[in-house]
Amino acid sequence: DAQIPHVFVTLGASGDLAKKKIYPTLWWLYRDNLLPVNTVFFGYARSKTSVEEIRQKCKPYMKVKESEEEKYEDFWKINHYVSGQYDSRTDFEKLNQELNKFEKGPVANRIFYLALPPSVFEPVTVHIRHACMALKGWTRIIIEKPFGRDLDSSEKLSSHLGSLFKENQIYRIDHYLGKEMVQNLMTLRFGNRIFSPSWNRDNIACIQISFKEPFGTQGRGGYFDEFGIIRDIMQNHLLQIFTLVAMEKPTSVHPDDIRDEKVKVLKCTKDLQLEDVVLGQYVGNPDGEGEAKEAYLDDPTVPNDSVTATYAMAVLRVTNERWDGVPFVLKCGKALNERKAEVRIQFKDVPGDIFDGKPKRNELVIRVQPGEALYIKLMVKTPGMAFDMEETELDLTYGSRYANVNLPDAYERLILDVFCGSQMHFVRSDELSEAWRIFTPLLHRIESEKIRPKPYVYGSRGPKEADELLLKNNFTYTGSYKWKQPE
Ligand code: NAP
Ligand code: NAP
Repeated sequence: DAQIPHVFVTLGASGDLAKKKIYPTLWWLYRDNLLPVNTVFFGYARSKTSVEEIRQKCKPYMKVKESEEEKYEDFWKINHYVSGQYDSRTDFEKLNQELNKFEKGPVANRIFYLALPPSVFEPVTVHIRHACMALKGWTRIIIEKPFGRDLDSSEKLSSHLGSLFKENQIYRIDHYLGKEMVQNLMTLRFGNRIFSPSWNRDNIACIQISFKEPFGTQGRGGYFDEFGIIRDIMQNHLLQIFTLVAMEKPTSVHPDDIRDEKVKVLKCTKDLQLEDVVLGQYVGNPDGEGEAKEAYLDDPTVPNDSVTATYAMAVLRVTNERWDGVPFVLKCGKALNERKAEVRIQFKDVPGDIFDGKPKRNELVIRVQPGEALYIKLMVKTPGMAFDMEETELDLTYGSRYANVNLPDAYERLILDVFCGSQMHFVRSDELSEAWRIFTPLLHRIESEKIRPKPYVYGSRGPKEADELLLKNNFTYTGSYKWKQPE
């Protein structure tokens, strides 16, 4: 029923995530009429601020067009703000009374978004449970990473949440699961006959899942330094993509059937070994411009002797019948030569070659960003009279094939999913626990032995040791492929 009242509460409404992501997303969903008509928004934080002040802070991120001004005013009219402490039951009771005022009729639903530092997760969730649960409908809780720092702390958080809420009330956001090409993986794999028979150890040599950023910490590395690139990117975003590439076909597209398969493939994945990992930390490039001259350690918010990795490559081994022997290479880094996130599936050499070793390996590339694309590198006869061969591609570039389609932002899809009650793109407790099981021994060893990352130059492709590890893991780079941009 479209008339059912919904309240959406942002806890930590005065913060960074709220202004950069949550308020803009709520506005876009409201603008596009995607939310239930009777939805109101509440901000909650300790600051003595107001809707007007929050509106000012959000302004640079809202992207309001001139024709939308009126609707934009309407959006802010249904926003409210309540100030209170995170550890005060009385303040949450006060919040509850405010929410009650909007909940006319027999049914009313509530969403709470915890945009807060993990240090206050526990009291806030306890108070929501005891003072703010919807009495006439459902309550859903959205939480953001970090979901702990290792297996123990993550299990502790999960069991705390589990003692207060049911799994179907908990929405753990990994915004990579909201990206078009990540959501596309299921369709590509299971909706196309040509891929399924070749998606295995008989045909695939190596799979790489990469995330590269062309900038460093920009003077704000203090927060990053406590986590490092493995916790920031690899253990969550890259591992989520990995599960969708490697899992078996689920029995249906029901969210729990999919999440069951994700858990299964994680269970078949061995704990990471240090021998299968390269860690890097960027150093300045004396010939670079601006930030590029600076090393990670030059960031004044980073301790001078930090051994935190800003680059990591790790090889996952999946010991099931489909993947035994196929390396899954996850790699991510800051201050690299380009911005990109992609999955690269490299096929084996053609057996029984009749072309004097000329055929290069096929590669299927699924580019998540920037510019969604899917291309397959393949060999053709060189066009024309000669009987030679060359590398070319079958190319699906979304920007041209779907030029007029607006691809929604990841947070837009995910927040809408929470309203709809779809947990397909959210991380379940058992999935999270397996993810930490794979990474925790490695992280503890890196920390206890203070393993020194290899230096790499700002703006390069990363430490040279990473290419050596790739080579050992059956990835072949020839450098012969040339891309020709279509006119
Ligand atoms: P934030 O700005 O540091 O904090 C949000 C609000 O929490 C602050 O406005 C502040 O509100 C309150 N707060 C801050 N420090 C506190 C403390 N020590 N004790 C009690 N309250 C405190 O955090 P954020 O960047 O918005 O991130 C929120 C959550 O999202 C975190 O879990 C973060 O890891 C995660 N996250 C953030 C981003 C991002 O882009 N920012 C990306 C991914 C995940 P009051 O003082 O008004 O109460
Ligand atoms: P490529 O040039 O053959 O490179 C393949 C990958 O190998 C690179 O992405 C690079 O990734 C890695 N690499 C580079 N030097 C290496 C080395 N010395 N040792 C080991 N690995 C190395 O093919 P491509 O990158 O797929 O395509 C070339 C260009 O064409 C790209 O810019 C691509 O975006 C573009 N293209 C675009 C489309 C489209 O928009 N639809 C389609 C096809 C191609 P890392 O640096 O991440 O290691």
